[in-house]
Amino acid sequence: MTTIADQLHHVQAQIAAAAAQAGRPPAAVRLLAVSKTFPAAAVREAALAGQRDFGENYLQEGVEKIAALRAMTDIAPLIPPLTWHCIGPIQSNKTRLVAEHFDWAHTIDRLKIAQRLSDQRPAHLPPLQVCLQVNVDGGATKAGCTPAEAAELAQAIARLPRLQLRGVMSIPDPQPDAAAMLAVHRQVVAVFDALRRLPGLDGLDTVSLGMTADMDSAIAAGSTLVRVGSGIFGARDYSGRA
Ligand SMILES: *Cc1c(COP(=O)(O)O)cnc(C)c1O
Repeated sequence: MTTIADQLHHVQAQIAAAAAQAGRPPAAVRLLAVSKTFPAAAVREAALAGQRDFGENYLQEGVEKIAALRAMTDIAPLIPPLTWHCIGPIQSNKTRLVAEHFDWAHTIDRLKIAQRLSDQRPAHLPPLQVCLQVNVDGGATKAGCTPAEAAELAQAIARLPRLQLRGVMSIPDPQPDAAAMLAVHRQVVAVFDALRRLPGLDGLDTVSLGMTADMDSAIAAGSTLVRVGSGIFGARDYSGRA
């Protein structure tokens, strides 16, 4: 039987190979394990195998899992604190859950949401680490700001006291072939490179790009953080979800 630990090691090897192929050190690419729809026991298994960063899309589910993992005091000596990333859409009436429970939020595409997260971030926690979500390939209905909007939005977010802007995130649509996929990934990295040249934004260090199906291409383009769900935990079952 293939275990979560086996799959995790397989994904780590795939990241290292893709990085080597691109002439980048394997440590340049961070692995975010996307545990949405999977139980706390699956996160525990991955954490015991050494995984530290976990991503959740559905806020209530994520908050419950964060609490469940904290309550597993039997494994506390084995598992240093986990880092929790919100990678799902954030509505304005849900910002408090993100501000109070997560370490990162990847899907910021409006100043109003960023402002609320900054206002609601508890004083005893470090600043919330955030990425600006950019939409390089979709129409107006797709989440994410346009590349043209990115500079002004990034500079405004960077001024908020309780957020730390780390870079960009994107969820490109699948493309018909590898060359087209790579071209889209490169557009995301180009937005990041342009932001980093702006005053005050030279410390940006994160391109959150690539999932199970497109991680090799994303790493070739310059992704620094891949978000991998099914490649680690297996196929998702959404049937229990309203
Ligand atoms: C679900 C999800 C992932 C992981 O997708 P897989 O194809 O299972 O690797 C990555 N990023 C986001 C934003 C997601 O919603």
